[in-house]
Amino acid sequence: MTEPVPGPDRRVDAGARRSRLVVLAGPTAVGKGTVAAEVRATHPEVWISVSATTRRARPGEVHGVHYWFVSDEEFDRMVDGGELLEWAIVHKAARYGTPRGPVEAALAAGRPAMLEIDLQGARQVRETMPEAMFVFLKPPSWEELVRRLVGRGTETEEERARRLETARDELAAEPEFDVTIVNHEVHAAAEQLVALMMVGDERPADGSS
Ligand code: 5GP
Repeated sequence: MTEPVPGPDRRVDAGARRSRLVVLAGPTAVGKGTVAAEVRATHPEVWISVSATTRRARPGEVHGVHYWFVSDEEFDRMVDGGELLEWAIVHKAARYGTPRGPVEAALAAGRPAMLEIDLQGARQVRETMPEAMFVFLKPPSWEELVRRLVGRGTETEEERARRLETARDELAAEPEFDVTIVNHEVHAAAEQLVALMMVGDERPADGSS
């Protein structure tokens, strides 16, 4: 039940890609952030990008750990300076973007790297880094997605309605992805994700490839 499912119309031999960059996307409230946090806690060898955002920090969120919380002016400066690998306005509310330098540094150092971003961002990375592996995190059902969004309790009623509307469109994007992971349970989903990142490591013992 929790095995990664190849995307319906793009069956990809992940091992042949040799990419260490995984882009994790999926509908709002599916648990992308929680799965990323689980990977961070259990697999310190995996480098996880810290995004810049113009939204305010929620209680418990730490600048430089969960996000770089920046002003609109600072975000403009990053965009103008070409410092972002991708960026998007998410839920019509705030801007989010992936600082390019740290991703390139992690990949240059040979570390498995992961971006946890929205669909618009994933599509941009698909253009600039098509060799990355694109993973879609999916809820077990629509009802479960609604339950998770309501249960989270971090959004206002209006925000929740807006996010659910976005989620419907986002769910339809699954066929654009290389692999789907169904998020039945956080730890299992995180393990599947890490397993996908490690596939490219299986090189011959004599160092040839
Ligand atoms: P939240 O505000 O709940 O932390 O995140 C809202 C959404 O923004 C999530 O769907 C998350 O994946 C997305 N997001 C976080 N960082 C980035 C980023 O750097 N780029 C893009 N495009 N989306 C991001």
